[in-house]
Amino acid sequence: MRELIGPCHICGENVYCENGFFDGVQEDGQLLCHECAGDEYGS
Ligand SMILES: [Zn+2]
Repeated sequence: MRELIGPCHICGENVYCENGFFDGVQEDGQLLCHECAGDEYGS
């Protein structure tokens, strides 16, 4: 199950919720993908 949450605030890539797992980051009310948030994938 994949639910569209919305576009990344920086790159515009769609961020989804997959199987109840939010596949992105929300900072200060702004939606970011993992790549733009810069976590979990190292620097
Ligand atoms: Zn992004």
